Amino acid sequence: MRGVTIILMEKRVYIETYGCQMNEHDSERILRLLEGSHYIGTKDAKEADFILINTCSVREKPEHKVYSALGRYKWLKERRGAIIGVAGCVAQQEGNKLLDRVPYLDMVIGTHAIPMLPQLLQKIEVSGERVCETGFDQNGKYLEAILPQRSLDKVKSYVTIMQGCDHFCSFCIVPYVRGREQSRPSREIVEEVKHLAEMGMKEICLLGQNVNGYGKGLEEETSFSELLENINDIDGIERIRFTTSHPKDLSEELILAFSKLEKLCEHIHLPFQSGSDRILKAMHRGYTKESYLGKIDRLKEVCPSIAITADVIVGFPGEEEEDFKQTLDLIEKVRFDDLFSFKYSPRKETRAAQFVDKVEEKVKQEHLSILQEIQKGITLQKNLELEGRVEEVLVEGRSKQSTQDVTGRTRSNKILNFGGDISLVGKLVPVRITKGYAHSLRGELVPPQCRLQNANFGVKDSEILI
Ligand code: SAM
Ligand code: SF4
Repeated sequence: MRGVTIILMEKRVYIETYGCQMNEHDSERILRLLEGSHYIGTKDAKEADFILINTCSVREKPEHKVYSALGRYKWLKERRGAIIGVAGCVAQQEGNKLLDRVPYLDMVIGTHAIPMLPQLLQKIEVSGERVCETGFDQNGKYLEAILPQRSLDKVKSYVTIMQGCDHFCSFCIVPYVRGREQSRPSREIVEEVKHLAEMGMKEICLLGQNVNGYGKGLEEETSFSELLENINDIDGIERIRFTTSHPKDLSEELILAFSKLEKLCEHIHLPFQSGSDRILKAMHRGYTKESYLGKIDRLKEVCPSIAITADVIVGFPGEEEEDFKQTLDLIEKVRFDDLFSFKYSPRKETRAAQFVDKVEEKVKQEHLSILQEIQKGITLQKNLELEGRVEEVLVEGRSKQSTQDVTGRTRSNKILNFGGDISLVGKLVPVRITKGYAHSLRGELVPPQCRLQNANFGVKDSEILI
């Protein structure tokens, strides 16, 4: 029998992403997977043969955006016959209901079904059949690395170390749409990071809904701190970050890693959600305001330069003025480098959606504005305090504001723009901070003749010995 060679025509995929880093990274993985079949990515939906909307359902607003995005792309289906799909949390949550509601939708693909995407696409291409795949994969196959097929034009990369969550905070939909906690074996993660280092990646951000819980159920027992140590030993990787940690599971071992591992950046994202013990209990968070502050003190003791960011929710059912005051008090005490603040948004399936003592929308909005104003002042003040210091920056690319400038991040994860050439991309350079703003820093490159090896980061001008 003679074999038949089928040459598939190159097609284009456009992916629109909503939500957190997890979703951003899932979109990257989807693109890598499709590039291994006959698709290439495009940034222009109008020229796409396949449009995929990768969705988020953590709050109501991003969920609604999905439907308006679908409406926006309907004409591309009608005019060009583009295949239209929905992936991510909304796909997982709504399943076949989405197909019923949106007649021109071809594909619904849940959070565990990404590896099946090329086959499902082919099925639609060949038969025109509409598909829905939302089963949970208990064996963790869906977490396996999807390595890039070609060099990436960037210097940092996400690596998923675990999926799902077992915490069931009463407001949160994640355990329902991402499933239960599943960790990837440490060996697999280390292999993936080595591969990324070979491709020129300098910074790795380890992803999971609750990275401190890493390791549960693995054959070869590894704690999250041990995983960090293994990654710290990989040549070529200069910086390690992780997100997100749950305050309840933040161990002393992990806190100590900030002083022990030279590649672990001095930044932690530690969502507290509320400063009121009564509300924390109703949220089922498993810690108190005092124990949260205790962990912050310990982090600052072990690593005085650590930057701290967090998530907070206002207007959770039953929240009163006194509870809100406790939240503001916690913010003033910690002095976060930055905060992601949200109005409580009821999610069906979660326990809090049944709570009756709802907070009025007007009050939620007022509280959110007050809180954001206070935080804006703290962030600006902290950035102003950095003026005159020299910080190590990993240069990521050209600045959006000026073609004369490049942009990068400090180890504390702050954006720093400075005059410089594109040849600096991928390099770690010392930059003196000249101006602190509310959302970024401005600086100037320290000339080579003024650099002392490893000696002049994080100090003021006057302290640098030349
Ligand atoms: N795993 C992380 C943790 O435990 O802190 C958070 C993951 S969640 C995807 C990101 C953030 O969304 C949460 O920290 C919370 O502040 C916010 N969030 C989650 N559910 C929410 C809801 N129903 N309403 C408003 N904000 C919500
Ligand atoms: Fe959601 Fe709580 Fe799990 Fe975070 S820890 S993902 S907030 S259930």
